[in-house]
Amino acid sequence: MRSIQVAAPPEVVAAFDALDEAVAAVGALDVSALDNRVRLRVLERLETARRRQVALSHEVIAELAKQDQADVGGPHHKVIGDVLRISYAEARRRVRNAQQLTPRMSISGQQMPADLPATAQAWRQGVLDDQHLRAIQKFFGDLPDQTPVDVVKRAETFLAQQAAKLRPDQLEKVADRYLVLINPDGKFCDVDRARRRGFLWCAQRADGMSIGKLTASPELRANLDAWMARFAAPGMCDPDDQTPVVSGQPSEEATGRDARTHPQRQHDALNALVRGQLGDPKLGIHNGLPVTVIVSTTLTELASATGQAVTGGGTLLPMSDVIAMASHAYHYFAIFNDTTGRALHLGRTRRIASADQRIVLHAKDRGCTFPGCDAPGYISEVHHINEWAAGGATDIDNLTFGCKPHHKLIDKGWRTRKLPNGDTQWIPPPQLELPAGTNNFHHVERYLPDAPPN
Ligand SMILES: [Zn+2]
Repeated sequence: MRSIQVAAPPEVVAAFDALDEAVAAVGALDVSALDNRVRLRVLERLETARRRQVALSHEVIAELAKQDQADVGGPHHKVIGDVLRISYAEARRRVRNAQQLTPRMSISGQQMPADLPATAQAWRQGVLDDQHLRAIQKFFGDLPDQTPVDVVKRAETFLAQQAAKLRPDQLEKVADRYLVLINPDGKFCDVDRARRRGFLWCAQRADGMSIGKLTASPELRANLDAWMARFAAPGMCDPDDQTPVVSGQPSEEATGRDARTHPQRQHDALNALVRGQLGDPKLGIHNGLPVTVIVSTTLTELASATGQAVTGGGTLLPMSDVIAMASHAYHYFAIFNDTTGRALHLGRTRRIASADQRIVLHAKDRGCTFPGCDAPGYISEVHHINEWAAGGATDIDNLTFGCKPHHKLIDKGWRTRKLPNGDTQWIPPPQLELPAGTNNFHHVERYLPDAPPN
């Protein structure tokens, strides 16, 4: 966490001292001596006070979000997430909420009302919970794009009024019914569909499996249907076969021994589709390497065929999968000595300038080295610690990974240096009064104790 020791104006200090004192006074009350009716009233007052404070914090976030990223020390949601120790996803949500709930400036400098003006008013009064807000946002997400402006406005006022009276789950039901009133035939246009499309991974589970959320457009579904009809058929792309059938017709015998379920066959067909593309020179170069899976591991783990490797996307890959994938032509490997951390062997399928160095960075840094940053290696840029322009060499000891927004901070007075253990330390410009730091996000094992708990 960053600690901020910037001198605040006296009125700010006084206001927060008073707030702390008031909270302490409430905490000192003897609630065990209260009547139940008073207890419920106390609970309600606490909830309203908390919601008002949340609304105030959103106003601060809205102000921060107007500032240039480089002046606050990186992407807004990442800086806020690190300071508050909340996830980047939650911080991103708060930034978006703050932007919807506070008045904004037009390009000509005119003050414009908030996107959700009635909701914003109730929010500031401490009447709404975050879940109320989610229900209202979901309603507008489901509203057809071509809904007339006055209908949208009336709906927003109506929902804000209902939110002040109902629990979030009740509000959601009311919002769903209201949506049917506005759009009784469920008519949606191409813009609506385009707005809702998406694919997102949830976090990788402890067993290594991942759940993804896909909202497919009709076109993607039609394309996948056509692919699946052929390649998810029994006997096709079966990883249990010595040589999986990926072209031509599977033999009757291959079809007969295929015991996979329909979802499993679809999964394998999708994998065959992507694997067939990766490494193709036609895909070009991404951040200095061919578009393919980059894996790093240690010699011990590879030799014992146990443990897990890490990909350039931050995915943990069981060693059995790594070995199976190694038989494919177009994967990049970095194998490291466990104790020295030195690269022993850099496997590669074709020579590209500094590709070796990038693979080493994938293995050493695994991702952006800025403190707390979650950007994986695949989307990181190579940064010269001693700047190239200032005569810095393209030597591996002078190179490190930084994501695009953090790499840009170098132009805003941030400096980097290598620590004796090879980690990259980021040093903020003095006026930010932040501590220098390194990033353990991509090396979770460093947080763990040396010995297993039992
Ligand atoms: Zn970064």
